[in-house]
Amino acid sequence: MRVLLFGIDGLTFRVLDPLIERGLLPNFQRVRDQGVQSILKSVTPPMTPPAWMSISTGLPSAGHGVYDFWEYERGEQGPMAHVVTHRKGGKAIWNILSEWGKRVLVANVPLTYPPEPVNGIMLSGYMAPDTQAAITYPAAFREELLQAVPEYQIDLDPAVSGGQVGDPLAATLKMTKERLAMFRLLLEKPWDFCFLACSGADRIQHLRWDEIMAFHPQAVAYYQMLDEALGMMFANMRDDDLLMIVSDHGFRGVRRKFYIHEYLYRRGLLKMRDEQKRKRAELLGFARGIVRMLKLQQLARMVRGQLRHSGVMAVEKEQHVANMPDLDWTKTHVWIPSASGFLAGYADIFFDETLAEEQIQTLMTDLQAIHDPESGEPVLVEMHREDVYGKGPFAPPERHLIVLANQHTTLPTELGRTALWETSDVTSGIHDPDGVLYLYGKAVCNGKQLTATHIYDIVPTILSAMGVERPEGLPGTEIREAFVLAQTPNEHAEQESIVARKLKKLMTKAQ
Ligand SMILES: [Zn+2]
Repeated sequence: MRVLLFGIDGLTFRVLDPLIERGLLPNFQRVRDQGVQSILKSVTPPMTPPAWMSISTGLPSAGHGVYDFWEYERGEQGPMAHVVTHRKGGKAIWNILSEWGKRVLVANVPLTYPPEPVNGIMLSGYMAPDTQAAITYPAAFREELLQAVPEYQIDLDPAVSGGQVGDPLAATLKMTKERLAMFRLLLEKPWDFCFLACSGADRIQHLRWDEIMAFHPQAVAYYQMLDEALGMMFANMRDDDLLMIVSDHGFRGVRRKFYIHEYLYRRGLLKMRDEQKRKRAELLGFARGIVRMLKLQQLARMVRGQLRHSGVMAVEKEQHVANMPDLDWTKTHVWIPSASGFLAGYADIFFDETLAEEQIQTLMTDLQAIHDPESGEPVLVEMHREDVYGKGPFAPPERHLIVLANQHTTLPTELGRTALWETSDVTSGIHDPDGVLYLYGKAVCNGKQLTATHIYDIVPTILSAMGVERPEGLPGTEIREAFVLAQTPNEHAEQESIVARKLKKLMTKAQ
């Protein structure tokens, strides 16, 4: 069986279902009505880089080494941040299938730069510098791509996706038009496994959540382009192929903010090197943190020359602070280095070795007791320790507390706020742990809805469908209940062939 995996960053039933109901996405409707759908639970926390790496490898963060857009290293001046453009280890599904002699096509999957040698073609996705870089395997495919799609874009200009300039909806439509042309080019090639990804849904949902929920024509046009891509996939599928649509996380709209880093500051758990800067930080506001975060691509471009063989980029010294405030590391015991949680409703709190475990327990109890003064709702709905990152060679060296905010709230990390709580006038679109999974094909049940599945289940399900042995140590399970007779497609195929052989025998006897 061949498998076509369509990955869509940030896709959510909150947006899809109303569009399907209005008859605007006929191909998604076909998949929903004639296939299987399920909420696909993201990794914890629901962040783009680790989620895509877990979709691709079936491993938790400790197994593939990706936690965020950055990784941190101890420096004399405190932790330094490095931009991450590739996983550190663990086999991806395209490696496993290549070893089995299967022909693979992998395009635009985030954090796949530099591209890896595969039995087929690989085109790097988000966090790759630009189309001038060596973004394809084999290298010659880059020329072919740029000839067919001269304006091919890896992602939006960071200033556009950061909301500083331009029209993100128009820019996303243009980018996606080129993306579809790339899909068209690749789908003409031979494949056993084809993994195509789109990123625009995440970009526009972060910036234009209210307009999307109000069916803004340009937003609708974007989801219709995804539907068109799906139509193109149908046209290139064989009768017994399996199609899977996955998102790395879902999305939701929020207006409430709880300044969790400021809360930790007020408890005396961290100190700024220059307390005056705390005041200035208030003036600069969150804008700086977010601009820095979305400047990652520019940063990646600037440091391209310093690419290490591991695929991790070294960042110039002046940028090493990334979005980290200027902290006094002799008096800081608890800190949140990444502002990513603001875009995904979580905080990853780091602890230094001087902090006693009882202090962490007290902090957890106190955090649990914090309620929104307006709604009375607890601010945090989930709390995890570092074991949520799983087991593996890249498990974090320090202790962590990972907290997830309630449905209406997100957790900005800027310091120097006068109030711990705030309500925005506009809705921010942020990541939600509940993403999307659809399965479609001859072996798949008709119009079935499953209880939640997990991102870890994707690799085992594909391997089973393709009759490829699953490596040891994967935490996920095959999604058996999606398939006819509740069997794995592989067993199903085997049984079918046994039945076919018996039939043949009978028929030869009869003749
Ligand atoms: Zn994402």
